[in-house]
Amino acid sequence: MTPARTFLPFSRPVIDEATIAAVADVLRSGWITSGPQVKSFEARLSEYVGGRPVLTFNSGTSTMEIALRVAGIGPGDEVITTPISWPATANVILAVGATPVFADIDPVTRNIDLDRLEAAITPRTRMLLPVHLSGLPVDMDRLYEIAARHGLRVLEDAAQAFGSRWRGRHIGEFGDLVSFSFQANKNLTTGEGGCLVLNNAEEAALAAKYRLQGVTRSGIDGIDVDVLGGKHNMSDIMAAIGLGQLAQIASFTAHRRALARHYFTCLGADFEAVTGAQLPLADFEHSNWHLFQIVLPDRGPGTRAAFMEAMAAQQIGTGFHYAAIHLLSLYRARGFGEGMFPVAERVGRLTVTLPMFNDMIHADVERVATAVKAILGSAGAQR
Ligand SMILES: *Cc1c(COP(=O)(O)O)cnc(C)c1O
Repeated sequence: MTPARTFLPFSRPVIDEATIAAVADVLRSGWITSGPQVKSFEARLSEYVGGRPVLTFNSGTSTMEIALRVAGIGPGDEVITTPISWPATANVILAVGATPVFADIDPVTRNIDLDRLEAAITPRTRMLLPVHLSGLPVDMDRLYEIAARHGLRVLEDAAQAFGSRWRGRHIGEFGDLVSFSFQANKNLTTGEGGCLVLNNAEEAALAAKYRLQGVTRSGIDGIDVDVLGGKHNMSDIMAAIGLGQLAQIASFTAHRRALARHYFTCLGADFEAVTGAQLPLADFEHSNWHLFQIVLPDRGPGTRAAFMEAMAAQQIGTGFHYAAIHLLSLYRARGFGEGMFPVAERVGRLTVTLPMFNDMIHADVERVATAVKAILGSAGAQR
């Protein structure tokens, strides 16, 4: 079998031998839950975001839920978010008893449209929850200007944006609450996991309580519980993976940017004109290129399934990220439906994620681009 015929996944984790050895050390150490590795990983993460407090969690979802609790978001509060994200983004708003309010996306960045976000603000709005989709940050200047003008908290769902930058600074170095995910497909992984960047020691202490049953070490008897916390802590096994990954994140990000550039080159300057498909925004300064996504030309029902099948026939994995959240049954049952966010609905139906991962090679990009052009080019003759 030639290498070109082996299956190319759309994503896969890359764990080096040094990291595997570090995990083995933890497993032999006699301490595998939260301990010295977690402390050390949190210290390194804090350095990475310019010294702001950072706490780790067992998932990005837990991280966001606790961020909402730390900000005091609950019943009666509206949180404005994007309809194009993994369901976790809106689910956590429901989980704390608050009300998700969607604002449609910008067709070029595919991130929440900040004009529509501002238009969705009501007297009940308490927080803005944008997503840096595929690692491309929303316009941070504009976002925080709107938040300041309306006196609103911000939780950045930066699940996909570890290593992304805004005006030369890492996402997380500034702003309000910033949540990252270390799930297996993310640019930096701990298997599962996440971390939250907070504003100060008081917020960090509150988040630490929510992380573990609400337990505080206080009083002469040792412990007390004064808020209802859960079980959301990261283990030392996960943190050891994270420490190994963090040492490589700069090279991971640089490599992904080079791969993204190569995609643009290989797909060609006339790709959009010839195929009717839409490329991602060509950003090589801010995005960490977590996902490389194209929006297919609309050829009716089954457009995306047919494309994904044709790619699979060439042993190339693809994905779709994401179905519009407001059209999922849970959200339809809350009154959302078709026609409310037309840009999100089109993008949700027609977006395809092409392969992109930390040890993908340039030849893989060439193979994918050739397949994409062949599939869309031939079908495009019918347009
Ligand atoms: C991965 C992801 C999450 C959730 O993170 P988990 O670690 O899987 O809980 C939330 N939002 C976005 C945009 C994500 O990509």
